Amino acid sequence: MKKMDCVFCKIANGEISAEILYQDEEAIAFRDANPRATTHILIIPKKHIPSLAEISEDEIHIAERLIKVAHNIAKEGGIAERGYRLVVNTGKEWGQEIQHLHLHLLSNEELK
Ligand code: AMP
Repeated sequence: MKKMDCVFCKIANGEISAEILYQDEEAIAFRDANPRATTHILIIPKKHIPSLAEISEDEIHIAERLIKVAHNIAKEGGIAERGYRLVVNTGKEWGQEIQHLHLHLLSNEELK
């Protein structure tokens, strides 16, 4: 998939709307359009990285950043204490539909 056709790049640059919960210079977090849990948030890099399998050494800090953002959202939303699930589908065979790296943050509690 080309960057210009990427739906998550379009969310990151404001071409497509999403319920954005957080953003900084490297990352953006928004609610999944088809939630599979009470809380279902996607955390993505603003930079187009197709998947975790294609991240370079120079970009690995971005993966760390995404995990930190996910944890901060859970903590500030009051759901970290009971725990949550982070999922990174990697490759079509393992359920990655959107070819732009993303973490799924899932919880059965609603963010406060
Ligand atoms: P994956 O299967 O891991 O690639 O997950 C892609 C996720 O993106 C799915 O959970 C979709 O519901 C979600 N999704 C697709 N398009 C949008 C969109 N425009 N806004 C928010 N979430 C989306």
